[in-house]
Amino acid sequence: MTNDIIILGAGASKTEGAPLQKDLIKKFYQLINEETIFQEKPKSLNDLKSFFINFFGITGNEPPNFDSYPTFEEVLAIIEIALERKEYYAEYIKTNQSLNSMKRNLIFLISEVIKRSLINHNDYHNRLIQRLIRKKLLDSTSFISLNYDIIIDNRLFELTDDNPSYRIDYGVDFYPDENLKEYKNIVKSIKLYKLHGSLNWLYCHSCVSLMLTLRRKGASTIVDRDVPCENPNCNANYQPILIPPSYNKVISNYYLQQVWHKAETALKNAERIFICGYSFPDADIHIKYLLKRAELYNNDGFEIYIMNWHIGKSNHIHEEEKKRFQRFFRNKDKIHYTRISFQEFCEKGIYNLRY
Ligand SMILES: [Zn+2]
Repeated sequence: MTNDIIILGAGASKTEGAPLQKDLIKKFYQLINEETIFQEKPKSLNDLKSFFINFFGITGNEPPNFDSYPTFEEVLAIIEIALERKEYYAEYIKTNQSLNSMKRNLIFLISEVIKRSLINHNDYHNRLIQRLIRKKLLDSTSFISLNYDIIIDNRLFELTDDNPSYRIDYGVDFYPDENLKEYKNIVKSIKLYKLHGSLNWLYCHSCVSLMLTLRRKGASTIVDRDVPCENPNCNANYQPILIPPSYNKVISNYYLQQVWHKAETALKNAERIFICGYSFPDADIHIKYLLKRAELYNNDGFEIYIMNWHIGKSNHIHEEEKKRFQRFFRNKDKIHYTRISFQEFCEKGIYNLRY
């Protein structure tokens, strides 16, 4: 049995209709102008609007061709860093919002925008899983997701609903463990390592526990009320756990450290790595560090297949991206930069590769 790893980047979620980080704020304003989100949360909506006006000069009345919205990562990172350094912004004092409530509003924004965008999702992730089952490859495949959204999670949960012998292994222990009773008959774990956190995880800073909000609303529930930690000996409230990729705080969280370590171990033992919908940007230095460590400790060296093609992609961008992958890895002959899209990969796999 080979050890295969599928790495899912933002491009994979985009095929289902999820906006890219750079388009999230634009999509947010589109949805509020259509009055399809935030109707029941007027305070959060007003706070977000005043935040974007005061911090980025965005009013929501920009012309349709306006394209200078900040990325979600930038917005979240400047709040995260201020929180960590215990520093404040004068604008917050004026608007009477705390950094923590702003962060919660931003997490609510991303979870609502993603949820709205995925109502009619295209089901490619499901086709991928079904293909892996047909080819008897699922049991030897692990997933690493760079996305906060729970698209792959939900498709895998559907699989575990239909096949009680499967469970999802996120690489961390949750408290309370909702699945504990069902675990007795588990024979197969599907590994899903989410390097930047997940919209269905809630974290308690006090007792350092992590809750999986399985079949609950997840991070969006804590926008306008405090959700108390479920540990009876703890009286703190849960916080979401989403870490922007270029922000180095990733190293410090106890649970994310475990996820990163397990992802590294899996990559060190991998024979084939399939990178989907990911352009390997310069800013993602922690991902590069992880892959470099794995490459240098992997005895036989893994083959890497990159599926990031889409119709209309220019040759220039294609070549630049190919160069970024080629220059970084030691075994150049093992880098296969394909002209296969994520959609094709899900449905047909890679010709001649038995994958
Ligand atoms: Zn707690």
